[in-house]
Amino acid sequence: GIVLGIESSCDETAAALVTTDRRIVAQRIASQDAEHAPYGGVVPEIAARAHAERLAPMIAAVMEEAGQDLSDLDAIAATAGPGLIGGVMVGLVSAKALAMAGDVPLIAVNHLEGHALSPRLADADLAFPYALLLVSGGHCQILRVEGVGQYRRLATTIDDALGEAFDKTAKILGLGFPGGPAVERLAREGDPGAVPLPRPLVGSGEPHFSFAGLKSAVLRAKESGRHRDADIAASFQQAALDCVVDRLAVAFEGIAPVPALVVAGGVAANQAIRGALESFAAERGLRFVAPPLPLCTDNAAMIAWAGCERLGQSDPLDIAARPRWPLDPDAEPVRGAGY
Ligand code: ATP
Ligand code: MG
Ligand code: FE
Repeated sequence: GIVLGIESSCDETAAALVTTDRRIVAQRIASQDAEHAPYGGVVPEIAARAHAERLAPMIAAVMEEAGQDLSDLDAIAATAGPGLIGGVMVGLVSAKALAMAGDVPLIAVNHLEGHALSPRLADADLAFPYALLLVSGGHCQILRVEGVGQYRRLATTIDDALGEAFDKTAKILGLGFPGGPAVERLAREGDPGAVPLPRPLVGSGEPHFSFAGLKSAVLRAKESGRHRDADIAASFQQAALDCVVDRLAVAFEGIAPVPALVVAGGVAANQAIRGALESFAAERGLRFVAPPLPLCTDNAAMIAWAGCERLGQSDPLDIAARPRWPLDPDAEPVRGAGY
């Protein structure tokens, strides 16, 4: 089977064609970094307009490159949430129009499910269940992935997401937006032990995350004028990493056994995080799986793949876009922002 995937939930406009035997037949992605950089973050209205301008020609290009007609498709999968509602609507409405025109099933994909299943696109041997650290710009969760649509959330953040902490640190250090890759690059030149920073929630019995206090400490370190930026970046990354490893250790105490530890989401592109998780997994005799870098940050191949995983299902053409859409609807609400 072959599925067209559409992604427009944040500031990446993307379209991709993926087959059920894990071939990315064609893909296009356009980042809006230049549009949002002057504002230091994603501006929803600008994002929605940029998606609207770019998406239709992008879909046409992907279809043409692959030599596919609408009627050749087995499904059209589009992100239906969570995310910035204007952008999500652009992608979802486009998918609905194409589904109607081609009489092709529509699959409304949860963007987080796209991230959660993305490691299976790159790795045919990754079977359910697996433990997943989902670390992105808006989310920071530990999940037990038991099957398609079956997610047990073990931990979440009570304030900021990990990617958000990277982005805020980048802003404090004047590294621009988006900040994750820039912080990682600068951290390579710094001493991770140079700046004393807190490790929020480390040692607590629940595996949840908190990064707001770490960000404030980064701001104080910068304002003190006593540290090199590279040392602040390296110390921040080390503190974040220590938090992740400690929280995972607590989560694993309460989780039914799984053979693999998997990381996904934009922050999964970070080499230091990948390294720390690899050691964590090795110590526990777990397989460690991380998607190739282009599948970590937002992309349409992961949405198409989620569609492949759900092939045979379809959603009604009047399905609504959802700004909030938890992967695990039964998860206990957590005090704080509830990411
Ligand atoms: P969500 O998936 O939660 O809706 P999002 O789609 O905006 O949020 P992603 O595209 O998955 O998030 O990830 C983007 C985040 O990943 C940003 O916060 C970015 O700074 C971070 N990121 C990307 N590359 C790296 C890196 N190399 N190191 C650390 N963080 C990174
Ligand atoms: Mg982005
Ligand atoms: Fe994302």
